[in-house]
Amino acid sequence: MIENGDHEENLSDGLSIKELFQNNDGLTYNDFIILPGYINFSSDNVALTAKLTKNITIKTPFVSSPMDTVSESTMAVAMALNGGIGIIHHNCSVEYQANEVRRVKRYEQGFISDPLVLSPTNTVAEIYAIKKLHGFSGIPVTESGKINSKLLGLITFRDIDFLSKDHWSKIPISQVMTPIDDLITAKNNLTLKDAYNILQRRKLPIVDSDGNLVSLIARTDLEKNRDYPLASKDNRRQLLCGAAIGTRKEDEKRLEALAQVGVDVIVLDSSQGNSIYQIDMIKHIKSTYPNLQVVAGNVVTQRQAKNLIDAGADALRVGMGSGSICITQEVMAVGRAQATAVYKVAEYARRHNIPVIADGGISCVGHIVKALTLGADCVMMGSLLAGTHEAPGEYYYQDGVRLKKYRGMGSLDAMTACQELSAASRYYSETDHIKVAQGVSGSVVDKGSVHRFIGGYLYTGIQKSLQDIGCQSLEQLHKEATEELIRVEKRTTAAQIEGGVHNLHSFEKRLF
Ligand code: GDP
Ligand code: GDP
Ligand code: 5GP
Repeated sequence: MIENGDHEENLSDGLSIKELFQNNDGLTYNDFIILPGYINFSSDNVALTAKLTKNITIKTPFVSSPMDTVSESTMAVAMALNGGIGIIHHNCSVEYQANEVRRVKRYEQGFISDPLVLSPTNTVAEIYAIKKLHGFSGIPVTESGKINSKLLGLITFRDIDFLSKDHWSKIPISQVMTPIDDLITAKNNLTLKDAYNILQRRKLPIVDSDGNLVSLIARTDLEKNRDYPLASKDNRRQLLCGAAIGTRKEDEKRLEALAQVGVDVIVLDSSQGNSIYQIDMIKHIKSTYPNLQVVAGNVVTQRQAKNLIDAGADALRVGMGSGSICITQEVMAVGRAQATAVYKVAEYARRHNIPVIADGGISCVGHIVKALTLGADCVMMGSLLAGTHEAPGEYYYQDGVRLKKYRGMGSLDAMTACQELSAASRYYSETDHIKVAQGVSGSVVDKGSVHRFIGGYLYTGIQKSLQDIGCQSLEQLHKEATEELIRVEKRTTAAQIEGGVHNLHSFEKRLF
């Protein structure tokens, strides 16, 4: 925008995004730079609300990759609390994956409408089992041991932790629970706001006028509500969670188990998604579970995108061989440079109102902003998140540096670890006698907690970057990019060197 200009001048500069790609070069994020715009707002006021799929909108455009060194329940919870979403990997048994999704869905709620309930004759041993499996222990006790039955008391870990293990299976809960007379309960016309005022202890059972238990409120949930205003939630106020599956017949069982525990988004995990198997799977999901959102992919061309959109995909995952651990382009000679892939697919998908997730090759804030500017709605990250506390695996030291393991799902390492399971099928089919690796196994440095890294650094970094571009929301960014108002420029190799740190004897790069 030109403000206070006395007379009209032609100040058009740089290229529009359309012009950037008109030579049909394969460009990467580093091959171009975005020219600054006009600032008349504070960066705190930049909104990063993004479409993840046709029906799901989240408050930050961050998605964690379905990889066994990146996304399990701990990562998915942290991603969702910070306004993004985690996609649980499938390099594990069906039960394991479904349980990880269950943990996320049960992590935070407003009214827990289906709380675990016990009956007075259940034993103390059962509380230990619940604590071990689910991580919580505040359990209402009702006559029938089910919801909608008379509330008799409440039992928590604190009531039983002094009991010796030998007696666990002998002591009925009725002997150790806090009985109903000592409990504060509330009636079912209560709002969450009222609950703030009543909740003195950790649990507030909600009962109907006959004293039957109808739901439960946990103090921790009200606290989390306050601490994570951007959190991604479904209409029951449970955190959103995604899960990846393959496209074989056996994956229908996996799908069923995931749907049962309430998964919100299914990601079809394939490095080349334009296949009859994937098209059949999309149709199967859409006809069997119409409320489940399906992210199809991966694709890098408009023709691939068309087939999956026609089959019913609710979003597309874009990228082939651009991931940090990928060797697909080298080994298969197939793939596409990521900036071009994102632009081409997003340009097509936008016409059909289908969101696009730019997957792979993101190694800094600037890459995220570039992906979004090229038309991506969200970004999926593997290596950037693999070094956080919330990623699976332990830290270890090498040459004095604190590291975590990170491996491609098509690395020999990952394929061998779970050969009997379908996850490896993304890159390996059981009819193959020889595995051809499409990824490597390596390590990444410690990035601290996701809460600080995503919720703090990436979020604020993108807000500041959008401010430089002159856009107050991702919606405005997409609109101005399409209208050719956002200007960009190709970078020569020398320009890229100039844009990095140079000519210093030594330096320390601390980012946040
Ligand atoms: P507890 O005191 O050991 O029960 O655990 P907290 O109150 O610290 O945390 C319980 C967390 O688990 C809350 O975020 C609940 O929303 C969540 N949760 C999910 N499902 C259930 C359930 O069936 N019962 C209970 N007690 N908590 C649940
Ligand atoms: P905290 O003491 O508030 O941290 O709560 P705990 O969950 O550790 O439970 C301590 C004791 O209080 C146990 O005997 C529980 O059964 C009891 N208790 C837990 N939640 C409630 C509640 O909401 N109301 C009442 N009256 N007692 C509770
Ligand atoms: P990163 O964020 O590390 O650059 O890339 C993560 C993405 O790489 C994943 O989301 C997935 O699409 C892709 N990927 C994961 N494992 C492999 C692999 O072994 N080979 C290839 N070609 N891509 C992989």
